[in-house]
Amino acid sequence: MFKKKKLFTMAIVTSMAALMLAGCGSSKSNGSEGSSKDVLAKIKDDKKIVFGVKYDTRLFGLKNPSSGEVEGFDIDLSKALAKEMFGSDVKPEYKEVTSKTRVGLLNNGKVDAVVATMTINEERKKEVDFTDVYFDAGQSLLVKKGSKITGLKDLKKGTKVLAVKGSTSAVNIREKAPDTQVLEFENYAEAFTALKSGKGDALTTDDAILYGMAEEDPSYHLVGGTFTEEPYGIAVKKGNKKLVDALNKALKSLKDSGEYDQIKSKWIKENQ
Ligand code: GLU
Repeated sequence: MFKKKKLFTMAIVTSMAALMLAGCGSSKSNGSEGSSKDVLAKIKDDKKIVFGVKYDTRLFGLKNPSSGEVEGFDIDLSKALAKEMFGSDVKPEYKEVTSKTRVGLLNNGKVDAVVATMTINEERKKEVDFTDVYFDAGQSLLVKKGSKITGLKDLKKGTKVLAVKGSTSAVNIREKAPDTQVLEFENYAEAFTALKSGKGDALTTDDAILYGMAEEDPSYHLVGGTFTEEPYGIAVKKGNKKLVDALNKALKSLKDSGEYDQIKSKWIKENQ
C-alpha cells in the first residue's frame, strides 16, 4: 500500500517536472522569436549589426585571403549604412552567406540584414522584407573569349550552362534557354572554377558579378547583353518594418550626400 502511494506521488512529481520543462521549452522558443521580432532593438541592445554578405563575389563581397578582410561594394555600403543609422554606437560585423543560405540565415537570426547581390522579387517577398533598390543589375552570360556562344540563342541542346544554387539566374536560365543543360554549384567561386576547367560552355548570373570574374581572368568576357532585370535590395527578417525604414532612410541620405556614388564608383566602372 505504502509502496503504491509512493509510486503514485513519484508519478505526479515526474509529470509536473515534465510539464515545467515543457513550459520552459516553449517560453524559451517564444523568447527567441520575441527577440528576433524587433531586430532593430536587438541591434541597439547588442551594439552590433551582423550583415550577411558574399565572400566569393569580386566587386561585391570577396574575402581577401592575404588580409582576411571582406571587400566590395556590399561591404562598403553596409558599413556606411551602419554609420549613418547608429554613428559609432553599433559595430558592423560580417558573416558569410551564399545565394542558397541567405534567407535561412536571416530567418534563424544568424544575420540581421543581407547585403549580398540579392534580387528583389515577388517570390522572395513572401519570405523576407526588402529595402528600396540599391543597385540595378541584369542577368547575362560569361564565356571564354573565342567561344561560339554569343548570346542566349546559342544555348541549345548539348550546351552546358553553369549557375549557382538559390539564385534567380538558375531559375531564369531554364526559362530562357529551355534546351540547354544547367549545372548548379554552391557558390560563384566553384562555378567559375568549373567554367575554367571546361565543365560548361557558359556561366550565367548578374552582369555585375560576371564583370568581376572577367576582371579576375581577362580570357573570359560577357556576351549577348542582359536578358533579365535584377534590382538588388537589402533583405531583413519579415515583419521588421522599423529596420527597413531605418535602412531606407540611411540609404537616401547616402545618395543625397554623394557618399553612395563615391562607394559605387570605387567598385563599379562607368561602362559596367
Ligand atoms: N541577383 C541574383 C539573385 O539574387 C543573382 C546573384 C546571386 O546569386 O546572389 O539570385
